[in-house]
Amino acid sequence: MTLEAIRTAVANSCHKAGREVDDVTLIAVSKVQSNARVAAILDQGHRVFGENKVQEAAGKWPDFREIYSGIELHLIGPLQTNKARQAMELAQAIHTLDRPKLATTIARLAQEMGHCPDLFIQVNTGEEDQKAGCLPAEADTFIKDALAMDLPVRGLMCIPPVDEEPSLHFALLAKIAARNGLKGLSMGMSSDFETAIALGATHVRVGSAIFGARVYE
Ligand SMILES: *Cc1c(COP(=O)(O)O)cnc(C)c1O
Repeated sequence: MTLEAIRTAVANSCHKAGREVDDVTLIAVSKVQSNARVAAILDQGHRVFGENKVQEAAGKWPDFREIYSGIELHLIGPLQTNKARQAMELAQAIHTLDRPKLATTIARLAQEMGHCPDLFIQVNTGEEDQKAGCLPAEADTFIKDALAMDLPVRGLMCIPPVDEEPSLHFALLAKIAARNGLKGLSMGMSSDFETAIALGATHVRVGSAIFGARVYE
């Protein structure tokens, strides 16, 4: 597919759901993709990108920022506490706040640095051992604690288990967000962003459908 086709699909999903197209941000997930592929998307005017790893983002985006203005970078991969400062310097949003220690670290750094990226709290809706995110049962408390630290928590994020119906997870995430007064919902990837938009996604993270398959070398 192409960027244009995905934009159209996002717009169509919004219309179907009776939602404004502007209420959904398309994050082009550029992890592992070559600079040539990323530049091609930038040349088409897209400015919102997602990366999984701080290291990889740091090696790539400062250079692009010298050439293209208005780039908005979203970190969507698990974040180690010792990388938090670098993440906050690089990114306009972090989607993977998932534990108290990371929250207190980000709060301290935000004081020191005088700014903080938008934050999404990752919820492990499938309660998978190998996956990051706070458990659904712990989410309300964690959200309240993070807000009490004055952190700019904009919403919640989830990655459904690969072998389950994603809509159940999207609906659960939306329910937790609503009862905590949070508007942002980062959910939906290449295979299920249309379902996610129908269930209220405000941020969809689409990689391979825009860039083509990731080639790991
Ligand atoms: C890689 C990744 C995506 C994009 O996945 P695609 O299936 O290529 O669209 C979205 N979200 C997260 C957290 C990812 O790690």
